[in-house]
Amino acid sequence: MTQELEALLELARHDAAIREQARKIELLQRRRQALLEAIEREQHEFLAKKRAFEELQHQSREKSREVDDLDAQIRADSEKLRTGLLSYKEMEALRTRVEHSRIRIDQLEDEALALLTKVEEQAPLIRKAEQDFLAWKAKIEHDIAQIDAELAGHSRTLHQLKEERTARAAAVEEGLLRRYEELRARYEDPLVPLIGGVCSGCHLRVSEITAERVRSQIVTCENCSRLLYVK
Ligand SMILES: [Zn+2]
Repeated sequence: MTQELEALLELARHDAAIREQARKIELLQRRRQALLEAIEREQHEFLAKKRAFEELQHQSREKSREVDDLDAQIRADSEKLRTGLLSYKEMEALRTRVEHSRIRIDQLEDEALALLTKVEEQAPLIRKAEQDFLAWKAKIEHDIAQIDAELAGHSRTLHQLKEERTARAAAVEEGLLRRYEELRARYEDPLVPLIGGVCSGCHLRVSEITAERVRSQIVTCENCSRLLYVK
């Protein structure tokens, strides 16, 4: 009897160790996943900022090009006015165009300058944001690598424990093992001590007969069916 109980207790302790490893692995995997998601979130946020900045740079370049094009047009028109063989009507039309273009180019230059100022203000902020993001990402990736190392260790332990379990289970009497395995599908603790007549699994008092029988053998709790023993 003592030997039988000892073998079953050994198996229960072994199963508890397996559960513990599995729990640790699950927690680490959840943490790993959360870190990966955080990287993705931050990256997404940073790239959105970067894209907005690139769009601003693009607008700034386009505006400068508009200024250059209009400037070239004004020069060409002025040259034509100076040297071209034009009718009075054509001259008038060209002069009006040049006047309008001069007003327009002043506006465009103001707009181009405003955009350029914005680009110059934002450029160092974007560079800083990129440096911060990359430094943070490197740190998180380092944490993930550490988690991976821990996971590998726990997985090895779990694998070993599972292999050893076969021998532990074989040491338990067959009928008892079957009941234990059935209960294990329902409870994390299929084998519990009876303390002061109370089942440690369901915390209910067992009958006096059961409390008496448990002194000499492994018995079943009438309430929860767990296997009971006394220390
Ligand atoms: Zn019980």
